[in-house]
Amino acid sequence: MSVVNGRPTFTNPEPGIDMNKIALAIHGGAGTIASELMTPAREKAYREALDLALRRGHAVLEKGGAALDAVETAVRALEDSPLFNAGRGSVFNADGQHEMDASLMSGSDLRAGAVAGVQNVKNPISLARRVMENSSHVLISGNGAFEFAHQQKVELEDDQYFFDDFRYQQWKEVAGSDRIQLDHSDKEKKFGTVGAVALDASGHLAAATSTGGMTNKKWQRVGDSPIIGAGTYANDETCAISCTGHGESFIRAVAAHDVHALMAYKGLSLAEAVRVVVHEKLPPLDGDGGLIAIDRDGNIVLDFNCSGMYRGQVAADGVFHTAIFR
Ligand code: ASP
Repeated sequence: MSVVNGRPTFTNPEPGIDMNKIALAIHGGAGTIASELMTPAREKAYREALDLALRRGHAVLEKGGAALDAVETAVRALEDSPLFNAGRGSVFNADGQHEMDASLMSGSDLRAGAVAGVQNVKNPISLARRVMENSSHVLISGNGAFEFAHQQKVELEDDQYFFDDFRYQQWKEVAGSDRIQLDHSDKEKKFGTVGAVALDASGHLAAATSTGGMTNKKWQRVGDSPIIGAGTYANDETCAISCTGHGESFIRAVAAHDVHALMAYKGLSLAEAVRVVVHEKLPPLDGDGGLIAIDRDGNIVLDFNCSGMYRGQVAADGVFHTAIFR
């Protein structure tokens, strides 16, 4: 890498490889995040966790690695943080347990893998990747997914690993009732799902999303995050998308695929397609939330229709940004 006019510039290692385009964006959930509750210490912790995930994912791209590896790496880092509603920090369901959903998609060949309602799996995103690579299926769930996790020898953790007192108190407020709750308390309404989208030096796109779903969810409820086209989508022709928000609405809006479709069939730019989905299509369906998006030229759009979204990005200029509020 050399620096030209203050911009890091890479020498292209081989034809078709363009290190000057690599880009990555991540989210850690969107919602109504009360700024008065966001103490400087808390904000710092969130930003550090986002920055770490961004740097880990970007390191993969910088070495010429695949977008798919970058999004998996970034999401694993977010799953390992107790701050986000995914992996370690997953919310409690109605039975006081953690059921996690995750998916990822490769834009170059439209391969995809997903898991729903998995328990005790340390990194559900990596299990989703195994589904894509080592099974003939796209989405597997519940006990079957657990059996597959054993077979694949992915890392498992006991229930204690997923215990977080903040989440437990959130659940206690609604346990035994019919109330389900997105990852929020009355004062802080937010969706803590995590996700990543990336463009690699070979021009390939990928997207990944992982979540604990909704507090007090019942009957093995599955949200949008593991549904290809709803919470996650990637296609080298257009863009890669990862969503966060009220899952039922995102499923009904087929939100992630809709951004792709608006670009592919209507010729909209990434920014315009995202605006239509986030601000026109989702709100009438009670679709609070947002999404992160990247197109095949490395343009990044992070948009939401609520007060904030935990997010971060690093585009071709190599500058890392994280943000929470608008
Ligand atoms: N979309 C997720 C779900 O409905 C929730 C979230 O984004 O926090 O499961």
